[in-house]
Amino acid sequence: MPSFLNTGINFEAGDFMMEYGTPILQIKGVGEKTARIFEKMGIVTVGDLIRFYPRDYEKFEEALPVRDVKKGEICAVRVRIAGSVTTKKIRNLTILNAVAADGTGKIKLTFFNMPFLKNVLKPGGVYLFRGMIQYKDGMFVMEQPKMYKEEEYRRLMETIQPRYPLSAGMTNHMVTKSVKQALSFCLPEKEFLPETILRSEKFMDREEAVHNLHFPKDFDTLIEARKRMVFEEFFLFILGLRGRKMENDTADSGFSYIETAQVERFLEKLPFSLTNAQKKVWEEIKTDLQGMRLMNRLVQGDVGSGKTIIAILALLMTVTNGYQGAMMAPTEVLAKQHFDSITEMNQKYKLGMHPVLLIGAMTAKEKRETYEMIADGSADVIIGTHALIQEKVMYKNLALVVTDEQHRFGVRQRENLAAKGNMPHVLVMSATPIPRTLAIILYGDLKVSVIDELPADRQPIKNCVVDTSYREKAYRFIEKEVAAGRQVYVICPMVEEGETDSDSSSMDNVENVIDYTQKLKGFLPSSIRVSYLHGKMKSPLKNEIMEEFKNKNIDVLVSTTVIEVGINVPNATVMMVENAERFGLAQLHQLRGRVGRGEYQSYCIFISSSDKKETMERLETLNKSNDGFKIAEEDLRLRGPGDLFGIRQSGEFAFKLGDIYNDAHLLKKAGMWVDRLLSEDEKLIKQEHENLRLYLENEKWNPIDFRTI
Ligand code: ADP
Ligand code: MG
Repeated sequence: MPSFLNTGINFEAGDFMMEYGTPILQIKGVGEKTARIFEKMGIVTVGDLIRFYPRDYEKFEEALPVRDVKKGEICAVRVRIAGSVTTKKIRNLTILNAVAADGTGKIKLTFFNMPFLKNVLKPGGVYLFRGMIQYKDGMFVMEQPKMYKEEEYRRLMETIQPRYPLSAGMTNHMVTKSVKQALSFCLPEKEFLPETILRSEKFMDREEAVHNLHFPKDFDTLIEARKRMVFEEFFLFILGLRGRKMENDTADSGFSYIETAQVERFLEKLPFSLTNAQKKVWEEIKTDLQGMRLMNRLVQGDVGSGKTIIAILALLMTVTNGYQGAMMAPTEVLAKQHFDSITEMNQKYKLGMHPVLLIGAMTAKEKRETYEMIADGSADVIIGTHALIQEKVMYKNLALVVTDEQHRFGVRQRENLAAKGNMPHVLVMSATPIPRTLAIILYGDLKVSVIDELPADRQPIKNCVVDTSYREKAYRFIEKEVAAGRQVYVICPMVEEGETDSDSSSMDNVENVIDYTQKLKGFLPSSIRVSYLHGKMKSPLKNEIMEEFKNKNIDVLVSTTVIEVGINVPNATVMMVENAERFGLAQLHQLRGRVGRGEYQSYCIFISSSDKKETMERLETLNKSNDGFKIAEEDLRLRGPGDLFGIRQSGEFAFKLGDIYNDAHLLKKAGMWVDRLLSEDEKLIKQEHENLRLYLENEKWNPIDFRTI
């Protein structure tokens, strides 16, 4: 066992060794039941476990005098129990209270359902407690703090403990214990980054980095370990993109397109004219479609810049040329929305298209009928989710695939379609504004068009960034807007209490959708209909709730960021974001894009639970600008390379470890090294690149699935 793994747990190690492919059941203490939960978390083999990185780390700090503890932070105190320990019972809940002090101040300790502590906590006794500090009725309070022996705590202070993302039924302790075993008994993966890179960048070697990512020796080592692994992640990703680019640049188009009168007529009939930016992008797409090579184009446009109409133009041009076009959305809700708006335009402007919807929620019979229409060509615009590329779907002559709000259309997906006919043109729509310097790298395999202009008739959204004391006022404002017939979104970061980590208390101040909905119902008049939505709900239920919201049967929708993508309800005019400090600026901007989509003045209220100066300043950026690209640039600027565990942007670029904003410098570095490597040894045939080549070839071992990027 490597010395830095000296973690105090003794395994009865047989003399067996594990490999990355060894089933997780081989790990001591992991039985059938635990293995099933691991499987839900995507962990089947020992290798999966080793690649399952902590989402955070816990550092045990020196105990503080009570005088110095801070509300909202996790602190340790060494205090004497002052007076007696009381218990009371409320229904099934036993609440135990004690007041403790240390000469600098008093603190109240509250425990739930731990009646036995009454015999443990002796008046006058001194103990170490650690937990989230709250302030109630003029006094500091710790609820459910953990209790430590002096010696035990001192040992913990010398370590940094990993905290893993968990699913229900799994504990951090179980993951920690299992990972320790895996690391001790599993043969490490070979180093595959070329020696030149390792040396020039002074990267830590792979085995040491992996170990330290799970069980860091100290903070500095953790930073080095993470740096190496994030670089690796970006490096492999970019290497994959370059491979695709070569493929893309040489693929011939099997279609012949000409300009058609229907498209021109449609543009004339539209109640608005395209913005200059839309016109420019449409020209680029038209040229691509008529060219000799297959199109691979990304349309990047801020929320509300009018990307859908561009997609419809491309589909119409495809249909009038006698081909089929498909449009793929990341969620059923979004697919349905596109289908409805395309159907409506089709009828209103007599476009002569035959759109069909294909989503998982349809009955088997409906699906069968739809498959038939797709196969015989009686359907020519097919809108749906991933269901569109399933094996059962046979297209008559698919020439164009548009993907909305999901920029990665996998190689495998494209191959699936190609197997059924010609390789289609691909048009990708993204509303994620990415700073230019990063876009060049991340979209390296695509040609990029930017819609950098909003339609002129938009009323700018009114924004405010406030602290939690403003909430009451915000609720009154919501009441007023609902009374005027408008609708409201409220965003919370979590689904349920403690959803991410059952044995951590650092989430205490984070609002969750389910409890929040209950609370909000209490604050608002009962005539206001409040409902909630989150990503863990089953798809049909999600669809139903979105449908109800659209049909104005729900006034206030409390949601996680699942509504971030593409939802269009022009009657919604208020977006209130709780714990805004937990989101990246670019993401908040996306969320904001859900309002201000209609004729009414719209408002965005960002509530911050942190009164740190930097946080408020960061959020103020949103007040100053409504331009997604500017905000993304600012987001990038405000994060230094030291911001390792800062806010991550969720969404399109969900890397396992790296964050394109926080780790932008590593992303650029990786881009540079990939270019250098490929210019030297494009096919990776040199001896020093052998391990890398083998690693890339071995899909099973590969953390990045190149077939889906
Ligand atoms: P996004 O780019 O976020 O996908 P949409 O395509 O949904 O935006 O467009 C938002 C709204 O703007 C739609 O109601 C659409 O009809 C309208 N729209 C699109 N282009 C224009 C334009 N040139 N002038 C006025 N309104 C437009
Ligand atoms: Mg859209």
